Amino acid sequence: MKRTKYCGLVSEEDLEKEVVLCGWVHRVRNHGGVVFLDLRDREGIVQVVVEELISPEAYEVADKLGVEDVACVKGKVRRRPPGTENPRLKTGQLEVLAERIELINTSEMLPFSVEEETPVSEEIKLRYRYIDLRRETMKRNILFRHRAYQVIRSVFLKNGFVEVETPFLTKSTPEGARDFLVPSRLHPGKFYALPQSPQLFKQILMIAGLDRYFQIAKCLRDEDLRADRQPEFTQIDFEMSFVDEEDVIGITEELIKTLFKELLGIDVKTPFDRVSYFECMERYGTDKPDRRFGLELVNLEDVFKNTDFKVFKEAIESGGTVKAINFNAGELSRSQIEELTGFVQSLGGKGLAWIRVEDGKLTSPIVKFLKEEEVKAVLERTKAKAGDTILFSAGKRELVYKVLGNLRLHLAKSFNLAKDGFDFLWVVDFPLLEWDDEEGRFVSLHHPFTSPREEDIPKLIQALQTQDIEEKKRLVHSVRARAYDLVINGYEVGGGSIRIHRRDLQEKIFKLLDLSEVEVEEKFGFLLKALNYGAPPHGGLAIGLDRLLAIMLSLDSIRDVIAFPKTQKGTCPLTGAPDYVSPKQLKDVHIKTLEL
Ligand code: ASP
Repeated sequence: MKRTKYCGLVSEEDLEKEVVLCGWVHRVRNHGGVVFLDLRDREGIVQVVVEELISPEAYEVADKLGVEDVACVKGKVRRRPPGTENPRLKTGQLEVLAERIELINTSEMLPFSVEEETPVSEEIKLRYRYIDLRRETMKRNILFRHRAYQVIRSVFLKNGFVEVETPFLTKSTPEGARDFLVPSRLHPGKFYALPQSPQLFKQILMIAGLDRYFQIAKCLRDEDLRADRQPEFTQIDFEMSFVDEEDVIGITEELIKTLFKELLGIDVKTPFDRVSYFECMERYGTDKPDRRFGLELVNLEDVFKNTDFKVFKEAIESGGTVKAINFNAGELSRSQIEELTGFVQSLGGKGLAWIRVEDGKLTSPIVKFLKEEEVKAVLERTKAKAGDTILFSAGKRELVYKVLGNLRLHLAKSFNLAKDGFDFLWVVDFPLLEWDDEEGRFVSLHHPFTSPREEDIPKLIQALQTQDIEEKKRLVHSVRARAYDLVINGYEVGGGSIRIHRRDLQEKIFKLLDLSEVEVEEKFGFLLKALNYGAPPHGGLAIGLDRLLAIMLSLDSIRDVIAFPKTQKGTCPLTGAPDYVSPKQLKDVHIKTLEL
């Protein structure tokens, strides 16, 4: 029997016609003389009725079918008798009266049910991913992703982009993570690096004159384990020549708008808001703010500039800050405040100062240390009213941002404050470089190929000339990048920049990053050389596709939109990767392992 139709696509058009269907036995029930069979394939489910009196042979086969067996059914499509329709199924008005059934393959007892309800551990789900992917929601996610690819390609094609594949076996492209390395058999002792992104190749494609490039690209980063990171993930990567920020932002907005419209039927308003990096940090304590709820940080530095309260005084005198959040979404109990204090301490904060505003009075462990006008100013500035609790943080600026930024998210989550829907935001005006205390040098906020603003270049040159490290930091920190991040609902979904296309400027940046000439030549000599041969001005961006899809589908984990993801430990329970290899294979690639 040869399939003529997908189970899930059986429709009114097929009424009274004969069809041949192939699929998996989703459910089977024998009512004595009649077997009802739900047959499922990629497109959905259809009910098959097998009557003993009409087709005894088919009945005999059907009677023995088990869940997830594979079967082929030939029969006639008919309308279900009134009262037996199933409105939850697309095919729910119809059924197929079986004439012949063939059992094609059997299934063992399943480790978990294909029906939605059963909760299963991640490990088991991934070990049996082929069963997990049979579940309705997982299948929907994978098909959604498939449709997203088509939309993405259509937007780029419409805008004159060329799709190019860049290599996997390559040299390191720094994006701030560790490289995955591949030993070379033919070149003993040498290694390829798997790409952290196609960054350098896409820039070189611009130098090659391709003008507009895009790729749905796999990126590989050997990062430390963090919740919901994948060592390999997918980016929508693109680059354009002879453009400025507005062109790159414009294409990105068109892409996002089209994806939301085509896949979700949602009209996204463009242009998206733009907020500077500094404003983001001041208002939300993070450069990827979730603006679907309030609880913004309120700056109180000026209020407390002459305070006698030691904790605040010390913070301000040592160049730090005092900020607060007014929690106005319900009364916080003492024990809730204690829990929040523990949370703040887990982030490295010393503790949590607070003022609870009650009708006519304030409860607080700190009010007694504050001047009357300070309290008044705090209440005014935070717009606190009866029932609200003001939560303070004081200390180094970075720590206050971290504490209040995370506290804000924590409160929003605990009290379910985020509005439904999507909030799109561009974060702009990033500093180009920041000082890394641990490494004792400047590091790029994006990557080293990001262009500074033209008007800030003199400051970079001055910074290179001064030996005074504090002066150097002051100068460098005031240099802004021509970079932009796309943030959706508090996730950094994309990022990009206008690039450096002049060799002398690129060399200066490498110098500020404290890379020696030898290192630069070794790592990026090929890029510098290419910049010598007529590099056009260019810029681009990359969007994390997995995260974008997870947000669109309101899923917490990107693993749910990836067909074969790794666990949070970076393993693949399905295949058993990573795994040991044979001594012979190791010898071939000239590797000796240490005794473990
Ligand atoms: N290569 C960058 C990244 O992976 C994106 C870009 O600058 O286009 O984040």
